[in-house]
Amino acid sequence: MLSIGLIDANIHAGGMKDDESPISIVGRWLEWELKRYGIILVSPDIADVLLIVFSGMIGFASSVKRQLTKVRANLSAYKITGGAISANWPAAFLVCDALAVGEAYEFIREIGKIISGNGTVQDIKRFILEYPNAIEKGQVADIKRDSQKPWLLDRQYEIVATPNSFIDWNVPPIKPDDGVIRVIGSKGCHSKCLFCSTSFAQEYQYMPEQIALAEKINFFGHNHKVQLLSNDPADLHSFRLLKIKLDSNSFTIKSLRNPDIFRSLLRSKSGMVRIGVEGVSERLRRAVGKPITNDELFRIVLELADHKFHQQLFFISGLPFENDSDWLEMMEFNKRLAVELHSGLLRLKFTTYNPTPPAPLCRFVPPRSIFSRYQEFAKWRFENAVSRWMYIISGIGNRNKPGDTGNYGLALAELLNLSRAQADSLMQSDNVFDLAPTFDEFKRMPHNIIGWPIDASLRYRMTEIYKRRTNIVAEESSNAKQQF
Ligand code: SF4
Repeated sequence: MLSIGLIDANIHAGGMKDDESPISIVGRWLEWELKRYGIILVSPDIADVLLIVFSGMIGFASSVKRQLTKVRANLSAYKITGGAISANWPAAFLVCDALAVGEAYEFIREIGKIISGNGTVQDIKRFILEYPNAIEKGQVADIKRDSQKPWLLDRQYEIVATPNSFIDWNVPPIKPDDGVIRVIGSKGCHSKCLFCSTSFAQEYQYMPEQIALAEKINFFGHNHKVQLLSNDPADLHSFRLLKIKLDSNSFTIKSLRNPDIFRSLLRSKSGMVRIGVEGVSERLRRAVGKPITNDELFRIVLELADHKFHQQLFFISGLPFENDSDWLEMMEFNKRLAVELHSGLLRLKFTTYNPTPPAPLCRFVPPRSIFSRYQEFAKWRFENAVSRWMYIISGIGNRNKPGDTGNYGLALAELLNLSRAQADSLMQSDNVFDLAPTFDEFKRMPHNIIGWPIDASLRYRMTEIYKRRTNIVAEESSNAKQQF
């Protein structure tokens, strides 16, 4: 029988604890699924087939290569991956032979059946070639690049695969190595922030039996740390039925606006409340599709602090067409908080915008100036709006080195499948670089060989609306005419 090994590219030492048990959530789930077919994971150096797990969107190929070397994996093994990386299939095929698209419950079960039935690697390949929710390397071998704009394909290609949307809600709760029990509540997201690949890669679905879900969580009692896996647990009816304190959870302001939900949150006594705010100004939040005023955000933060919640607010720095006035507004917001916040712990976390497909905004590459703008803000923050209750977690660069882009150029190169020098050159201008100013070009972006739930024409229209909301006219935004 073929043997299967696991490579968890996010985790040191291949993702296995003492070479016996996977560390991560996905690793534990894979172990559970395969055991149902009598398959026990083996060490990657002797595996015939390697399942490659990676939870991020960027840095896939470099992380996997590093991990394969580190654990001395059998490099001739047949390598399969899945998850978020499917939107960036050219990066996946730098190191893998096959890619599961969308949810992989059914895919892994089919692989389990083939292997437990003494199937060969050829049998696995044949299955993947015919399976509508996966891509085999050979299926994309003839796809070519545009010679002038290498981040685009030379023409529009037929859809090669569509995302699988089947979720097995009966998979048992998973307890990875961090000791926190994860119970799946929903997948995808009911919000559609235009920069967010998660919400455009799959439809929003939630566990249909919400009362049973609440009972499952309440069953653990107060002696366990439990997380309800969802991009917005407060949107789930089960959340209002919980009787135990949850470990940290993320919420949207849209849900917290509902007084019933807000009361449920106060009752839940979550250890840490995380809120995705996204844009650093009202203008940018409205443009990405998450309108939140500074006053409303301020009121919610103070109210949660009064109820002794620790909080983390997530912001995206470097959103396309941000400008100095957005950061001036952020400074004002920080000053207000520094003066008014008197209890609880508030972390402000800034993550740099990445053009990650299939999010509509992935056609825009930010200019280099986003780094100095953020770094100036961080410097100002440390010298001015200092508060013992509030601190920031920097997602980018070094505030002592203005303009330092850290590893951003490398990540961008992998995302766009360009060389580092080519990726850097796209960021040289003071303006956002528009990779696909016309709909014809947008359709030729590589991720569009996958049939995403929202089609390319609607996603393109969303980007045009974003430009209007940020008051950018096409001539100003697009420097695609400049020589590459
Ligand atoms: S950024 Fe968060 S709230 Fe917005 S669509 Fe993505 S997961 Fe949902």
